[in-house]
Amino acid sequence: MVKQLKTIKADFPILDQKVNDEQLVYLDNAATTQKPKAVVEALDHYYYHDNANVHRGVHTLAERATEQFEAARQKVADFINAGDKKNILFTRGTTQSLNWIAASYGEATIHEGDEIVISYMEHHSNLVPWQQLALRKKAVLKYIGMNEDGTLDMADAKKQITDKTKIVSIAHVSNVLGVVNPIKQLASIAHQHGAIMVGDGAQSVPHMPIDVQDLDVDFYAFSGHKMLGPTGIGVLYGKTSLLEAMPPIEFGGEMIDFVDLYESSWKELPWKFEAGTPDISGAIGLGAAIDYLSEIGMDQIEKHEQDIVNYVLPKLLAIDDLEIYGPKDPSKHTGVIAFNLKGLHPHDLATALDMEGVAVRAGHHCAQPLMKYLNVPATARASFYFYNDSNDADRLVDAILAAKEFFK
Ligand code: PLP
Repeated sequence: MVKQLKTIKADFPILDQKVNDEQLVYLDNAATTQKPKAVVEALDHYYYHDNANVHRGVHTLAERATEQFEAARQKVADFINAGDKKNILFTRGTTQSLNWIAASYGEATIHEGDEIVISYMEHHSNLVPWQQLALRKKAVLKYIGMNEDGTLDMADAKKQITDKTKIVSIAHVSNVLGVVNPIKQLASIAHQHGAIMVGDGAQSVPHMPIDVQDLDVDFYAFSGHKMLGPTGIGVLYGKTSLLEAMPPIEFGGEMIDFVDLYESSWKELPWKFEAGTPDISGAIGLGAAIDYLSEIGMDQIEKHEQDIVNYVLPKLLAIDDLEIYGPKDPSKHTGVIAFNLKGLHPHDLATALDMEGVAVRAGHHCAQPLMKYLNVPATARASFYFYNDSNDADRLVDAILAAKEFFK
């Protein structure tokens, strides 16, 4: 890494604390990430010096706020190689981004008998909006199956995606199995059948370089808070022709061009979708997060996390009675690792790890159909980020071994 890990940890004051008398090891990054000083300071600076509403006033503060808000949009566009900032819509997060596609594009284009294809490993945010759209439209929701190791079954993908398919929507990285799905290949299959490809980038954008034009996705959704940014800000990328054809989802201030008593017209992209006062500070905070990530480099971040997986996965696999979900081959696994200790409920395991200062998540991870597919009620999940190191990995392994011993 260009930045030394020691310096990096110092950028995250929250990590420097004891939990239950032990040094905190934060391994719940798939749920949300911690924020570096640079992000918190950007929020501080904005509220102390520049706070005003955007796109409305001509006074100096309004101009400063607008400039910073739109500069953040440009940073997002550059970060995922969107080509133009008009292709970047600010939303509340991945969930809202995906709902917007279903509510606008989906509502306008899906008809009875059309097919929408997703997979069993989708987060509820990339499942329920399509399920409900399909129910409203009498369309057919289809699921791509998985191979034994939890990777997506691409032979099945080719069977499920047909000329009736209108939308394919798949997580780029699973928030449970830690697998990377071949989004570019899926986009190519979808396009051969005249369907559009939606990528759920909630667990990919924070961890690897993403080029939406190279992936050739039609829409791509992600959340600021999973990539060092504040909660409440997210992104929907869309191709120009699709966004231009789509009707707005919400109406009100900011998004209009002209309003008369019985008719109105909308602003151009991207503003026609952003009704009301947006999350200005959230966007500026996300911009600061992108600056921070870019300084380290997404290639470096991806490599560092892969090194941790190469180190920790074999150690976890070596623990008797610890079941790991997803691939056993570290090269197929990202830093999201779900597991269960035989005979122990994952909530008890997570509580035992918390007693050792190790923060992991336990539950269904907003993926109940996947839990059913795996035939488990829930799992524990450790998820690493670039500020974690091999010492954190050792602490996880030791805490699991201690829990195993305690509950024997
Ligand atoms: N999709 C995936 C793969 C996720 O992991 C998450 C969050 O955990 C979401 C969607 C929803 O993100 P948000 O709650 O930020 O809208």
